[in-house]
Amino acid sequence: MQKKLSDNDVMLETITTEFARKSSLSHCRGCGNKGLAPVLDYGPMPPSDGFQDAQQCEIPESLTPLELVFCEACNLLQVLETMEPQQLFGNDYLYLSSCSDSWLEHCRKNATEITSRFDLDADSLVVEVASNDGYLLQYFKQQSIPVLGIDPAPAPVRCAVEAGIETINDFFTLKLARELSTHKKADVIISNNVLAHVADIHDFISGVREMLSEDGSWIIEVPYVKNLVDGCAFDTVYHEHLCYFSVTALQHIMTRHQFYLNDIKMLQTHGGSLRVYVSSRNKQAQNVTDLLREEKLSGVHRLEYYQDFASNARSVTRQIGGLLENLASQDQRIAVYGAAAKGTILLNCLGQTARHVAYAVDRNSLKHGKWIPGVDIPIFSTDEINHQKPDYLLLLPWNLRSEILLQEQDYLRSGGKFIIPLPRPEIISGKDL
Ligand SMILES: [Zn+2]
Repeated sequence: MQKKLSDNDVMLETITTEFARKSSLSHCRGCGNKGLAPVLDYGPMPPSDGFQDAQQCEIPESLTPLELVFCEACNLLQVLETMEPQQLFGNDYLYLSSCSDSWLEHCRKNATEITSRFDLDADSLVVEVASNDGYLLQYFKQQSIPVLGIDPAPAPVRCAVEAGIETINDFFTLKLARELSTHKKADVIISNNVLAHVADIHDFISGVREMLSEDGSWIIEVPYVKNLVDGCAFDTVYHEHLCYFSVTALQHIMTRHQFYLNDIKMLQTHGGSLRVYVSSRNKQAQNVTDLLREEKLSGVHRLEYYQDFASNARSVTRQIGGLLENLASQDQRIAVYGAAAKGTILLNCLGQTARHVAYAVDRNSLKHGKWIPGVDIPIFSTDEINHQKPDYLLLLPWNLRSEILLQEQDYLRSGGKFIIPLPRPEIISGKDL
């Protein structure tokens, strides 16, 4: 099948007049201000998690512009286009949070920490929005703390319910929060990696306010925009991620709802995230004040900071493309390790160069037999590494590099090599173990 990018070797290159015009006419998701500044144009992209079966590969895919813009009024980095949530989190949504061992360990520690910090017990209620397959709530349940999960994607919800985690299969809105909070208000609401996905962020926050008990706490994890920029993680920009938060931008949004940032922890997950403790108490830990000051010094509130990131992304994409071209010209066989959502973006940014990748392998069996959208690369189980012995594996979930290199040390010891694409292309072989 024809790849969608026939006349372009690398995406991201220019800011067109049309992109600049659209940005200037658009309203900010955070403050409503009209007139956003264009940062990076990815071009038309397929849904990053829209893995296709063989039949779907026969019909043209739906491509949506992916355009990154910045609001100079409230300092929120965001994408212009909002895809229908149903398209993103419907039956095709296959991401199971419980897939990664390091992630589960992070979750177990998180649940233990929350339990002691907020003195949770059998009379408490912990609600998680976007609870997926119950990856986190299971650790509260193990401690006999009542839990409720809410998640829009049917497949992970089925797994959660089968595991005995009470879960509502729906989108979290103010309307749903009103229905649910007639019973019991939550002592803790957790929303890990969901705020960035929400189209109507103010409706979502109003829902949290409705459902949270008066002295309750809301714990949010969001990828940190400073890590995105400093780590050149441009492949973590995709349709699902509508907003990219700095502490400065988060404070702007929360203030509108009389919520306060009480405390912040820096996490290593998703290439660098913030865990933010929010409540109605106007009490700010010193680290929040420090982070706000640091952000100001780094220029996180300025457009130039994001423009530098954009030129970095262009340069790294050209380097990865050049490396793949070079290896292919030496008849080296290249496959992809980990059909991560971010990988869909990276491969599509590579344009024609992605044709040098023969196939992908992934640990998630739900993805086997499917294809990576936009570039039509088939996904197999990791057993395929032993069968086909590719010379190079391009590691798309680069955030899990230590864990994956450890899991695949046999491949490395037998002469295979990994290409780590970001923040700068790097080749790892057996001698690096
Ligand atoms: Zn704004």
